[in-house]
Amino acid sequence: MGTGAACDPVTLVCGTRPELIKCGPLIRYFGERVSVIYTGQHYDSSMYDQILRDIARPGRFHELALGGTRRGRQLGAAIAAVDEILGGAPPAAVLVQGDTTSALAGALAANANNLPLVHVEAGLRSYDRAMPEEHNRVAIDHLSDLCCAPTELNRRNLLVEKVPAQRIVVTGNTVVEALRTAAPDSAARDGMLSRLGLAADGYVVATIHRPENVDDRHNLELILRELAALPLPVVVPAHPRMVRRVAEFGLAALLDGLRVVEPLAYPAFLALVSGAAVVVSDSGGIQEEVSVLKRPVVVVRRSTERPEIEGTFGTLVPPGPRIHQEVLRWLDDVPARRAQLAAIPSPYGDGSPSARIAAAVRRLVAPPVMSAPMVAAT
Ligand code: UDP
Repeated sequence: MGTGAACDPVTLVCGTRPELIKCGPLIRYFGERVSVIYTGQHYDSSMYDQILRDIARPGRFHELALGGTRRGRQLGAAIAAVDEILGGAPPAAVLVQGDTTSALAGALAANANNLPLVHVEAGLRSYDRAMPEEHNRVAIDHLSDLCCAPTELNRRNLLVEKVPAQRIVVTGNTVVEALRTAAPDSAARDGMLSRLGLAADGYVVATIHRPENVDDRHNLELILRELAALPLPVVVPAHPRMVRRVAEFGLAALLDGLRVVEPLAYPAFLALVSGAAVVVSDSGGIQEEVSVLKRPVVVVRRSTERPEIEGTFGTLVPPGPRIHQEVLRWLDDVPARRAQLAAIPSPYGDGSPSARIAAAVRRLVAPPVMSAPMVAAT
């Protein structure tokens, strides 16, 4: 199937920066045949306009403004708003990606309208019930008619939960295509680094935003102290949630030793990561991206739903001294460690996950004409 191949119109429901980034290849693939409902869960312009500029335009874009309220309220409002749109113009299928409140709202609204539901990035499990995302992804997987699992491990997670095998397809992760399209070439990257006064392999990039780290004053303080004590410049594209908490907890002085910048456009962020000696992050998507960019990541979290990179590109550590220890380990003999990582393929696939997803969607909405008749002929 080529770009824009015949497929009934689909509606994609999303609401955050990482969803826009990872749905970019699908939007480009479906073109006029996809309409996007953006809930506005991420509404800060540094997280939203910035990213929107770089993705393809869908057939229709419904922009809602439902962010900035409590999770339950946001979920309820998003279900109602998405239900209204789906009810007015029912698509052949509804797609949601990942594990956000917006994705769960899209899934429940599709279900309420009896529309086929497709979960892109299905089967990830942290088994950490304290994470709202874990509940969201489990609920979405079990509501879905088609689970697009990025990896074989994700497929097995679904089978263990008795999701029928015929509902699952292993597709790879669209992040690999998003990254390929957006990543600047090495000349553009080097230009950007020199404008920032950074040398390739001479700095650390850190992003911290998960509630377990930033909503807990003690953890946030531990992490910022560890970052400030690193022997290289640390560039922090600061997530608005982290910025809010630093101010609320009176920790602003701890940012003095760091190079805090606004969240970056996706191509600029990829340029920054691809020149970093080490990345320190609690992000989900960045764990995948480093496996394509062949950079190491120190994952500061209690658990991960992406164990595929553990022991190769990433190490999971709690807030505290292990951050420092792990970064130093990666800084020891950078060329040798870099060569090691360069030889490891990304577990998130290559080629065109969006084409595999689109083909599976087409099979879902247009079952083979030769299938058994539903009613016996009289
Ligand atoms: N990202 C970006 N600009 C930045 C920081 C991150 O474009 O300044 C991208 C990053 O490459 C990844 C995504 O945003 O694709 C990660 O988003 P986030 O950390 O908000 O969410 P998570 O991945 O944890 O769901």
